[in-house]
Amino acid sequence: MNCIYFDHNATTAPHATVVQEMGDALQIAWANPSSTHAPGLAARRLLVDARARVAAFLGCQVAELVFTSGATEANTTAVLGALALHAGTVRQRLVLSAVEHPGLLALGQTLRARGVVVDLIPVRPDGTLDLAAAAALIGDDVALVSVMGANNETGVRMPTGALARLAHGAGALLHVDATQLAGKAALHFHDSGADLMSVSAHKLHGPKGIGALLVRKGLALPALLPGRQERHRRGGTENMPGIAGFAAACEAAGRTLAHDIAHMAGLRHTLQQALLALPGVVVYGAHAERLPNTLCLRFGTLDSEQVLGKLERAGLVASSGAACTAAGTQPSHVLLAMGATPLQAKASVRFSLGRDTTVAEVQRAIATVQRVIGPLLQDHAAQAQAA
Ligand code: PMP
Repeated sequence: MNCIYFDHNATTAPHATVVQEMGDALQIAWANPSSTHAPGLAARRLLVDARARVAAFLGCQVAELVFTSGATEANTTAVLGALALHAGTVRQRLVLSAVEHPGLLALGQTLRARGVVVDLIPVRPDGTLDLAAAAALIGDDVALVSVMGANNETGVRMPTGALARLAHGAGALLHVDATQLAGKAALHFHDSGADLMSVSAHKLHGPKGIGALLVRKGLALPALLPGRQERHRRGGTENMPGIAGFAAACEAAGRTLAHDIAHMAGLRHTLQQALLALPGVVVYGAHAERLPNTLCLRFGTLDSEQVLGKLERAGLVASSGAACTAAGTQPSHVLLAMGATPLQAKASVRFSLGRDTTVAEVQRAIATVQRVIGPLLQDHAAQAQAA
């Protein structure tokens, strides 16, 4: 690929050891890990080893780790499981944040149509969660509070510790969608205060189609896909190459995490400062606690599709927000929730850097934006002044 890839929040390229271990798993551990013959036992050994490596990276016990097909399945299992756990009681309300992943918000809509009360915690203009509003919404009829660890569009972090106290004070469970945290922030399930946590391998240089739901010890969460695998918490023959790749990705991320965080934060700072010098540039969540790699901004109100098209033709790939909605023409629900107008929200551009992003790439990206978008911004500013 001969472009600068600044879309790591959408997905990341698999690490070399991930590709290697996935290939090995297909050759060596192709058997069914539930089989009791020798090939099956070889697969089981790989599964046990991989589970330990993923658990070590996520700060959970091996028995708390349920492999899923990714974060969407993990999120869905958490929400439907929490409701099923409290079935027949008054605890049937859900509290989500207004800036959750589109998949989770869509599940909320489906549940609403079935009569479940789903409340959304608002965010402030800088993207941070309104904790006072959260406190008012979290009562003793709530089954689950579900928020992201960090937002995929703006990178703004959520106050999960404070939410854990609020949720537990009301007798509710807390689920954290940590999909964007993994590989970009220190992550420790036990320290987080969460009862349930979702992660996805493809955001940290692992393969797609594999992720995990962490379930706090002692919590008998009903399965979304019943079956005997994963201690009866997720049926279906295990995705062995995916699991092997996930373990390799976690191990690689864990080795260099502290360095990667500092590296990405430095590069993001350089990019942000250079782009802020252009007329009309507004950065979302600039002063909030954010992921080190994410820079969400708008170039005045220049339409993001136009901006992204020009940048891609000049060799720089970014996104207008979540990949799941980027293909659509809807303004970002995240930016609308932060108080942006539809015109402003349709102008958003997200640059998300990776741990392998280089200083040279950032310098080239800055020069590209200045050359390609700079003149448009000058015209835009002149028009705004004339109007
Ligand atoms: N949650 C968040 C915060 C995400 O960014 C994503 C990926 N866009 C998902 C969930 C969905 O993850 P997956 O692709 O593994 O289903």
